Amino acid sequence: MKSDITYDLLIIGGGISACVFASKYLKNKNTKKVALIEAGRRLGGRSSTRISKRFKGWKLNHGSPNINIYNRNKNLLLKSYIDELLDNEFIKNDDSELILLGEESDLETNIESEFSFGLNYQSLFSMSQLSQKIIESNNLHDVIDFYFGTLIVDLEFNNKEWILTSNNGDKFKSKYLVCSTNLLLHKRSLKILNINQIPLRKAIPKNKDKTIDLLLNFLNKQSFIPRLTYLIYTNQNYNYKDCYLKKNRYFYLKKNLENKHKFERVIFQLQDDNKLGIVVHSRNIDFFNSYTNTKDEDVFKQKIFTNFNELFEGNSFINQLNFNEKISIMKWRASQPSGCAVPLSLQFSRKYRIGFCGDWFQCEGFGRIEGAILSALILVNKFKI
Ligand SMILES: Cc1cc2nc3c(=O)[nH]c(=O)nc-3n(C[C@H](O)[C@H](O)[C@H](O)COP(=O)(O)OP(=O)(O)OC[C@H]3O[C@@H](n4cnc5c(N)ncnc54)[C@H](O)[C@@H]3O)c2cc1C
Repeated sequence: MKSDITYDLLIIGGGISACVFASKYLKNKNTKKVALIEAGRRLGGRSSTRISKRFKGWKLNHGSPNINIYNRNKNLLLKSYIDELLDNEFIKNDDSELILLGEESDLETNIESEFSFGLNYQSLFSMSQLSQKIIESNNLHDVIDFYFGTLIVDLEFNNKEWILTSNNGDKFKSKYLVCSTNLLLHKRSLKILNINQIPLRKAIPKNKDKTIDLLLNFLNKQSFIPRLTYLIYTNQNYNYKDCYLKKNRYFYLKKNLENKHKFERVIFQLQDDNKLGIVVHSRNIDFFNSYTNTKDEDVFKQKIFTNFNELFEGNSFINQLNFNEKISIMKWRASQPSGCAVPLSLQFSRKYRIGFCGDWFQCEGFGRIEGAILSALILVNKFKI
């Protein structure tokens, strides 16, 4: 039980928005007692990295593989933060090849994906390590208590402090709270956490605070694009047909090809030992469901390899998979917020001493890393404690 410690600030979530917020907010404030609570095993959230125990040395970025910054509104806060990441050598320009596969799997150069607009940057480390570097950048690693593998399931506010309860019964107390995930604010929490009231609504009843009421109303209308990620661990001698040497190679599929092959993007990620990892994103959950209903997982895996081989048949860069490559599958129930975005004016409630950040806010980059970073930078300026 952590009930004996009262923190000045608790941060729920360890994705990139939480890390940016913590690093900027806590700079020069290291007298504060802060804890970050994350359900997963490491930092990064949906911009994270699978480090396999089975496949030693493999690091596959299974969510967002890079960062694209559009910044059409020329936001100076965002621009100077990206410059800072570049100066610190945390990111660099991503000069990987971006290829759009069109009608007949032929190559086109004009890519129209929201994940490639603007300037593209690559982490100099894995995506998880990028979040870690960000949080360590102002010597904060020792300032913050990190609780991994800890899922918050209940929120309570008793006028004096926030009391958070985790799935294993731990209690965390704090004067101030930052929530970087919208799970505890959204109706999907009822099913996922097996509870009967949205945690934030339970903590702050209706008509107590206009900001919170509006925030919950907006979120109630927010939907999510689910995604599947297939991580393919290729064999020792699998390689490109040509002599491409850069770290990543991204293939985007046009809608008709996506419908046919059930893949959205195929990302080749060069590993430190020159092996090639392949990450496939799919928005086609029905395809997954129809195959996972079969008891034999191998049938499903074979289907993915078949689709891959059909997609790249005759391609001048990509070799066929030979079916004894290894694969693991991840299901993201809420990979990307969609539809109704939450106005930034609802990011902070002074009365309840709670702030919010993440890619679910209405700003440039809604549903992307750009929005996650920007919302965190804006929250820093609103959060006065
Ligand atoms: C497959 C996939 C591909 C993507 N591709 C791109 C791309 O190419 N470009 C791009 O810009 N964006 C992409 N995105 C979106 C991008 O990953 C997100 O916009 C960004 O990572 C969001 O960061 P965040 O900090 O707002 O949220 P998150 O990364 O989701 O962080 C929230 C954290 O809170 C934790 N958490 C949630 N609930 C609780 C709880 N109750 N208790 C404790 N911890 C909790 C979660 O585990 C998570 O780590 C992709 C996403 C996915 C899934």
